[in-house]
Amino acid sequence: MAQFRTDLDDIHFNLFELFKVQDGQHDLAVADLKEIIKEFEKFVAKDIYPTREVGDVEGVQLTDEGVKVPAIFHVANKGMYDNGWYALGLPESIGGMPAPEAVVLACSSIATGASVAFTMYNGLTRAAMNVILKKGNEQQNSLYIPKMMEGAWGGTMCLTEPGAGSDVGAANTLAVPREQGGFSIKGVKIFISSGDSDLYENNIHLVLARTPEAPKGSKGLSLFIVPKTSINEDGSLAESNHVQCTKVEEKMGLHGSSTCELTFGQTGECVGHLLGDEFAGMTNMFIMMNEARLLCGMQGESQANLCALFTEQYARERSQFGTEIINHPDVKRMVLKMRAEARGMRVLNLYIANLMDREREGEADLADEIALLTPVSKGYCTEKALDVAIDAVQVHGGYGYCKEYAVEQFVRDITVAKIYEGTNGIQAIDFVLRKILKNNGVAFNSLKKKINETINLKEAAQWKEELALLQKNIEKAEKIVGQYGKWGMQKKYDKILESCFDFMMFSGRLITAWLLLRGAITASALLPSADNEERKKYLRSKIVDFKVYCRHCLVQNSATSLSILSFSEGIENLEV
Ligand SMILES: Cc1cc2nc3c(=O)[nH]c(=O)nc-3n(C[C@H](O)[C@H](O)[C@H](O)COP(=O)(O)OP(=O)(O)OC[C@H]3O[C@@H](n4cnc5c(N)ncnc54)[C@H](O)[C@@H]3O)c2cc1C
Repeated sequence: MAQFRTDLDDIHFNLFELFKVQDGQHDLAVADLKEIIKEFEKFVAKDIYPTREVGDVEGVQLTDEGVKVPAIFHVANKGMYDNGWYALGLPESIGGMPAPEAVVLACSSIATGASVAFTMYNGLTRAAMNVILKKGNEQQNSLYIPKMMEGAWGGTMCLTEPGAGSDVGAANTLAVPREQGGFSIKGVKIFISSGDSDLYENNIHLVLARTPEAPKGSKGLSLFIVPKTSINEDGSLAESNHVQCTKVEEKMGLHGSSTCELTFGQTGECVGHLLGDEFAGMTNMFIMMNEARLLCGMQGESQANLCALFTEQYARERSQFGTEIINHPDVKRMVLKMRAEARGMRVLNLYIANLMDREREGEADLADEIALLTPVSKGYCTEKALDVAIDAVQVHGGYGYCKEYAVEQFVRDITVAKIYEGTNGIQAIDFVLRKILKNNGVAFNSLKKKINETINLKEAAQWKEELALLQKNIEKAEKIVGQYGKWGMQKKYDKILESCFDFMMFSGRLITAWLLLRGAITASALLPSADNEERKKYLRSKIVDFKVYCRHCLVQNSATSLSILSFSEGIENLEV
């Protein structure tokens, strides 16, 4: 097993020098925040990282008593709750330890890179708990939140059914009102992450279902809290609530995370409780889905970063033709590109988390930008992370294709993040149709303005060629959005839908290049006062990241814009 590593220099730089999260409305100084990250990283290295390989090899087992996870997962999970890490960033009112969202994300990313399958369990619990916290009534909050906070009960999100994948509105699970209160739930949900496990004594499923007179489609869905085991009023566990795990999927990766088929109400009555208003199921589930989409982006970013660190180390140690392979220009290119891409994903996700902090602190007009960037984080970071993992295998040569150096697992574990939480194709449609066109380009234009402001800074002028490329990219982005408007008016919807994915990736690269430029400007200003060679080397690396990203990644936008703008014939004319 490769030695666990964390790019703490880059995490600290983004948090404290670029985004200055210490200036937010909280009582934590830089030293306190660094201490939290340091202690968390130690916990991850000791308890979470060892679950990565074991989870991959052992996987989970469906037994007569339910799903069993590898024993080592129990140790790490206990540590998450006993040491208070689960509570990090949650409100004090429920026993949480408030901290800036960006710091929480940085910590979650360290854990996720170390063992993505393990982090699925408490990540989903936290996301489900947040929906109950926001939409639950007083009784629901006092029944569920304390148990979820202490790690006794886990949480899941149950949308997908055999006939309802991307088309969530096709869900058929029924929720029939009972005379005694609550709803009788009947149906089958598939692919449910953490759907069952022996990590928790009870599982709290958030289930999208349809009441008898509900309208068709997503507008007719309501959200229900459905515990695996029924709960007495005092919070103690009662009898089975007839939620059965009827299958565990055999997957290409993410083996330590249980992916379950759940059958509700087949062996007896299964009782669910309405969460929020009837027919507001999709809106309420979107609280969880938006959080989960950002978690997917972070899954990509975190694994790409660990993968890039392992690969740089390997390239420094492996010798061919009498020199370490990192000295061969082609390998050096891959190592530098991987670092720039991985760090680019980190700065993108931390930027979004920082927007969330600023919004919470009262800064106006940030909600649309967060909404605009959510599908970009999910789509762009998961796509790019897979590219980074594939390059990692290549740099490792034959060893990369084998298990010993642990990089092939990244390829298998990352791939699913492109699929779940809405495939990247669906993210792209959301990005272009809802977040740009339906918003009349307001959020997109305001982001473009921010990018232009950075380009026009005199501190940026030192990178002439890169700036010219960025400028060209902005012009192309304007042209593409303008063209989308025209196609919309001409009802040429296929022309738009055909290229949404390409434009989401185009935008991901443009925004990442902008954020890396901001990093390069900050690093360049800090360089003269850097007091040791290690620090100088790190700051110089931020400038290299920006340059490498422009010449190897941002340039791809030229081909993308040609593809979107140069061909008048729509895809409907091309026969499959
Ligand atoms: C490991 C794993 C864990 C999961 N965890 C959960 C979970 O916890 N909870 C949960 O509810 N679900 C979960 N899912 C389900 C996941 O969210 C779905 O698999 C995903 O949304 C895609 O649905 P589908 O598999 O039915 O594919 P489909 O919807 O059949 O899509 C197949 C292809 O068609 C494309 N497509 C479909 N419709 C359109 C369209 N209108 N326009 C353009 N392209 C389209 C898709 O992009 C995709 O490429 C999980 C899945 C996996 C594999």
